[in-house]
Amino acid sequence: MATGSSGSRRKRPRNRPPRVSVLRVGHRAGRDPRLTTHLALAARALGAERMFLHPADPDLSARLAEVVADWGGTFEVVGVPDWKSVVRAAPGPVVHLTMYGLPLDRVLPRIRGASDLLVVVGGAKVPPDLYRLADANVAVSHQPHSEVAALAVLLDRVLGVPGPGRLAGGRLAVVPRARGKKVREVRRSR
Ligand code: SAM
Repeated sequence: MATGSSGSRRKRPRNRPPRVSVLRVGHRAGRDPRLTTHLALAARALGAERMFLHPADPDLSARLAEVVADWGGTFEVVGVPDWKSVVRAAPGPVVHLTMYGLPLDRVLPRIRGASDLLVVVGGAKVPPDLYRLADANVAVSHQPHSEVAALAVLLDRVLGVPGPGRLAGGRLAVVPRARGKKVREVRRSR
């Protein structure tokens, strides 16, 4: 990260939240498409920029691309053949969410100020190497629950829940209402 007062283009404004990527390991294509889809939807809606998926699942990536076309933003699901190279190439801290880790509150001060953050979540089985390769193993409570819940809490604590403004480029936008459902078409389908 650039330092000093030279106005370097690489320097990030103070208090800018980190750019967050998510890495999902242990995906079982065809066996738990709903859970991994919900993980990607939560990651996108709560401010992550992309989700790396191991092993790759082109159908799931395509489904998320449709959501982005409808609802905006630039989120993508990137299939990866090797999860370790994603961890090793991470430009910032790597946070592995696990019920066995340190409490989230203890780690937050270290990760909130990062420029980039890679958040790793497991599936039914977690590769043991992940505990060693991560910069921090972090628990959202020390009870077993779900990768979707753990990721959602972490993103809320690091980025906050986004307001009602729509993401750029989407075709549709929700009009917030106290009751009922209203969706506005902001751009015609191509
Ligand atoms: N059996 C796996 C293991 O050996 O760790 C855990 C499976 S759990 C259903 C799937 C994922 O949810 C975990 O890999 C972790 O990322 C996340 N997770 C579940 N409970 C968590 C907690 N209390 N704190 C943080 N992450 C959690």
